[in-house]
Amino acid sequence: MDQGGLSRPAARRWAEPVVQNAAPSLDQIRRAPKVLLHDHLDGGLRPETLVELAAAAGYRGLPTVDPAELGRSFVAKEPRLDLVRYLEGFAHTVAVMQTAEALERVARECVADLAEDGVVYAEVRFAPELHTEDGLGLEAVVEAVLAGFANGMAQARDTGRRIVVRALLTAMRTAARSLEIARMAVRYRDAGVAGFDVAGPEAGYPLVPHMEAFSLVKQENFHATVHAGEAFGLPSIWQALQLCGAERLGHGVRILDDITVGNDGAVRLGRLASYVRDGRVPLELCPSSNVHTGAVRNLAEHPIGMLRRLGFRATINTDNRLMSGVSLSSETARCAEVFGWAWADLRWLSINAMKSAFCDFDERLALINGVIKPGYDALAAQAAFRVSGPGGPAKPD
Ligand SMILES: [Zn+2]
Repeated sequence: MDQGGLSRPAARRWAEPVVQNAAPSLDQIRRAPKVLLHDHLDGGLRPETLVELAAAAGYRGLPTVDPAELGRSFVAKEPRLDLVRYLEGFAHTVAVMQTAEALERVARECVADLAEDGVVYAEVRFAPELHTEDGLGLEAVVEAVLAGFANGMAQARDTGRRIVVRALLTAMRTAARSLEIARMAVRYRDAGVAGFDVAGPEAGYPLVPHMEAFSLVKQENFHATVHAGEAFGLPSIWQALQLCGAERLGHGVRILDDITVGNDGAVRLGRLASYVRDGRVPLELCPSSNVHTGAVRNLAEHPIGMLRRLGFRATINTDNRLMSGVSLSSETARCAEVFGWAWADLRWLSINAMKSAFCDFDERLALINGVIKPGYDALAAQAAFRVSGPGGPAKPD
């Protein structure tokens, strides 16, 4: 069952907003059951936590210790046009995430913040090798984060919120530890790790040296995504899919380079773009992050609008909530405004993401049919009621 192709009747049904003149508000979107596949643990700290952890660790590199000011200092000016400068913020967050206590806290608060934002399922990634500077072993790093996720989920349950958060273990493109990290991901697969990822600068760092890690993941029947097609073009996407066998693309936004729009408005897909769309390869799109790193000029020019229309397996994600000053709700609301999305579009994006999650099929179905569809249908019905009053839903123009 796949509703991605817009020409199919089922997909067309989904593409029709329930009520075209009821644009979802930020407040309503916060209550919608959302799914997040691309979010970095070290890119989503609360500013106040960063200040406290820096004090505890004796780290003096923060530009300010005023949490509000610190939060603002992280958010990139649009357009920043510089991935390297965007990445500078991670020096601060990673510096204070070097003890088991700090990692547990950051992971626990991450779950709390996502639950508060209405996220019902998330895969949050981190690179264990970045958290060993003060002597923690890779195992200790992974176990501290998984404990934080478990504690966060238990606390969310206590407050009546239902959220599942799993980990993706990231290896750095610039280092040579991917095989080790892939082994760690497989080892902790039944303890909360959902898959493997590779991140870091694409230009000058091809995926070829990491093929053995991806091969191990495949041989173990496990899951892999990879940062590809963010700052670099089609060869990076091709390597991720065809050399490494990645199941999803972290960003993948440069797939646009293989799509041409003729003067007559007709859209033509190249071989690779066709492969991605036909094969339902999920794109973990992160619109604001792409603007902040200079991959895309502004939100209105972000291809997520076009990719959604063309029926790619598009998903919407935060990437780095602290560095981009976003939540999944705020990101969704901004895109809804810019691209004119209605409830049906948001429902489609959440279902797309849940279908693409690295959890088992039964869990995906349970969340789609038991939480996501009923949640969006209820919100759309409420919105329709508000627009039209008790007489019934307003008819589209
Ligand atoms: Zn990322």
